[in-house]
Order: sequence, then C-alpha cells, then structure tokens
Amino acid sequence: MEKPDDAEMAIPADCVACGVCCFSGLAAYARVTGDDWTRLGPEADRLAHFIDHRAFMRMVDCHCIALDERKDDSGSRQYFCTIYEKRPQICRDFERGSPRCRGELWAKSLAFRD
Ligand code: SF4
Ligand code: SF4
Repeated sequence: MEKPDDAEMAIPADCVACGVCCFSGLAAYARVTGDDWTRLGPEADRLAHFIDHRAFMRMVDCHCIALDERKDDSGSRQYFCTIYEKRPQICRDFERGSPRCRGELWAKSLAFRD
C-alpha cells in the first residue's frame, strides 16, 4: 500500500483526540536526555529508565507511562500527557501536522488495515 499524499491524509483537529505518537510496541521509544531527566525531577525514576546506556520513557501496554485517557462531555475518548509541562524535548518537537506526525499516523494506521 502506498503512502497517501500529505494533502490527502486526515490530520486530527486536536492531539487529545489522537495520542498516536505516544503509543509504540518498542521499549526504547521516547528518548529522555540528561536535560529531560533533570526536568522530570523526583519522578524521573518512576517515569523513565535506562536501556543500553540511554534513557527512555517507560512504556506500559504499548504506550508511554505518562499517557492517560479521559472522556469529554460528549463521551468521546481523549488522550493526554500527565506530565505535559515536564515532557521530554522529543515530545515538545513533535508538531501536529508535521511530516513526523503524518509518518506516525500513516505507519501506525497500517496495523488496523486489511
Ligand atoms: S502530533 Fe500527530 S500523531 Fe501525535 S497526537 Fe498529535 S495528531 Fe496525533
Ligand atoms: S511524555 Fe507525554 S507527550 Fe511524551 S510520549 Fe509520553 S505521554 Fe506522550
């Protein structure tokens, strides 16, 4: 299956309706740098760990440990980062609608296609 043109790909209107980039089956997924670790503060050990000399956010059930979900007033599911102000730089650099966002949406949607 070919990747659709960016213009054809539907981008969620709001990240809380998506959360796709916070999901992965990889243990080494969201990189935590030294500055990130410092920003996480006393919770760093609970949220992140080292794999082969590099630190990453811990993953639980194929999503980042810091991801949580809730329902909005209409009952729709929302995803949100529980450490938004302290999230790693790699997450700060991830812009909705950017090529990386579109790549995530495309790659992970494949798992739900025939
Ligand atoms: S940045 Fe893109 S993939 Fe990540 S939650 Fe927002 S819309 Fe979804
Ligand atoms: S730290 Fe927050 S934004 Fe980054 S992957 Fe985890 S839940 Fe998503």
